[in-house]
Amino acid sequence: MSFLKTTLANPISAEPHSLMLENGVNLELLETGVLRVSPARQGDYRIVISCGIHGNETAPIEMVEKIFSEIKSGKLTVTNELLLIIGNPPAANQAVRFIDENLNRLFSGKHQSSSTKEARRAKLIEDHVAEFYQQGEESRLHYDLHTAIRGSELEKFAVYPYLHNRDWPKTQIAFLERCGLEAILLSTKPAGTFSYFTSTQFGADSFTIELGKVRKFGDNDMRNFADAMQGLRELISGQEDFSSELKSIQVFSVVEEVIKRSEALKLHVADDAKNFTAFPKGSLLASDEGYEYRTQQDGERFVFPITNIPIGQRAMLVVAPTIL
Ligand SMILES: [Zn+2]
Repeated sequence: MSFLKTTLANPISAEPHSLMLENGVNLELLETGVLRVSPARQGDYRIVISCGIHGNETAPIEMVEKIFSEIKSGKLTVTNELLLIIGNPPAANQAVRFIDENLNRLFSGKHQSSSTKEARRAKLIEDHVAEFYQQGEESRLHYDLHTAIRGSELEKFAVYPYLHNRDWPKTQIAFLERCGLEAILLSTKPAGTFSYFTSTQFGADSFTIELGKVRKFGDNDMRNFADAMQGLRELISGQEDFSSELKSIQVFSVVEEVIKRSEALKLHVADDAKNFTAFPKGSLLASDEGYEYRTQQDGERFVFPITNIPIGQRAMLVVAPTIL
């Protein structure tokens, strides 16, 4: 059995079934693209690893499939509770980001005002994650793996969802650095993302992780993801204790969230400009009806620019270096 093939062959739903491995690890398919892995003994963490929340982001899906196959063959020891999720199987089958709307804007109940395929999927994922986290007292972790549409000056980076009154834990960020991430971006506002949902609702240490550029299934050079794979293996097998120190990872904070106000929105960045391109103070980055954004200091950078989105959604983030 392949988690990926089974998921793509049953994109809408799947019969729950389970399989006990010789080493006592239990694999349980709860719904299509939602797989529970239970170790024989209880560990310290309860970990969600998700991928394919955007259907065309294949490298993370291939990573999760590899983790699954290593667990199934017994090569990878499991000592922590694990939930593996392939987010949007119908979109993955069509090699598109989404079918009706962006799944990663629909969490924290935002799906309630929509009736699209993605809205139903967001609700289903929320329910499975809630059940998983609430079954034990272990520390909660969530790594939501993505790849980006455009190139990036800093290829691998994580978005830390807004934590409200909680502090940014340096040990979590140090773990991400060991996973090969070059930068971390600290959010300053609530969002409809999957990682904000698990962070806020369950107090998980949650991250949206960008691992490089979008490519088709089979076109990913998995050597690019070796450090991240190794980090996840150590986490799953219980070797990771979050004791490393920060080294040189760059830390940014969001200084402006550009929201699409009207069809007049224009982002003043080149189509082929890379994420994290730095601009001098005073550069015009976005304009819209009654709005413009000029950089307030040297070295501000843009991330995730997109204009073909509904009015009211985020068109771009502007970030600036900060210290933890
Ligand atoms: Zn994505």
